[in-house]
Amino acid sequence: MAHKIEWTEQTWNPSAGCTKISLGCKNCYAETMAIRLQAMGVEGYENGFTFNTVPSRLNDPFKRKKPTVYFVNSMSDIFHKDMPEEYLNKIFDVIKETPHHTYQILTKRADRMFQYLSQREIPKNIWLGVTVDNKKEGLPRIDKLRQLKASVLFLSVEPLLEDLGRINFENIDWVIVGGESGNRARSMEKSWVLNIKQQCEEKDIAFFFKQWGTLGADKVKRNKKQNGKILDGKIWQQYPEIIEQQYAIF
Ligand code: SF4
Repeated sequence: MAHKIEWTEQTWNPSAGCTKISLGCKNCYAETMAIRLQAMGVEGYENGFTFNTVPSRLNDPFKRKKPTVYFVNSMSDIFHKDMPEEYLNKIFDVIKETPHHTYQILTKRADRMFQYLSQREIPKNIWLGVTVDNKKEGLPRIDKLRQLKASVLFLSVEPLLEDLGRINFENIDWVIVGGESGNRARSMEKSWVLNIKQQCEEKDIAFFFKQWGTLGADKVKRNKKQNGKILDGKIWQQYPEIIEQQYAIF
């Protein structure tokens, strides 16, 4: 599926739809897209944003010979409570059987991710991440993530909704930060971003500043093209060493 996510190559959506569980979900992009895809009659969106598996897409990675970095479920959450364990096993089987691809798995359901993956060997071609939108809901997800052993552990701090204070980055390899997009976007303070960047620098962790979002640092609404990526006069798009060494695409 075509996408606009800078830190991946392709999206793979073996499930579709989701349920809001966190403050960051308020203006969910996938929900808006799902309504449009429903109107267009796209498979998987017959019931709008209601979670469902899409078995016809399960084997898509087998069809692609070129080694590819896939973002798994850009339109859903792989660890959603309605994801059947049997189907989850099938997704992980596809991942294991296509070692030439890399899979970025990002979730807000860190408890289920931990419950499922802590009992299994995690294939080397998986990068695991959690979303951190605020302190109360986001920070505890990092505690679950850091206990798992994957090639790359990353945080998607987007949309950043408040100052996160001191963050325990133990075992974390990569931090991506961004503001919210869309008509109802909430603003992000520069000091919140700099706080995270400074802590990444202290711990030598790769820091990737994705965007300010619809409301820039000045809180003035702008269009997508003007949606800035400059933080303190620079573009910050760092990747962990393992990614820089192995992936020429970034
Ligand atoms: S978890 Fe992600 S996909 Fe699901 S509702 Fe929240 S923002 Fe949307």
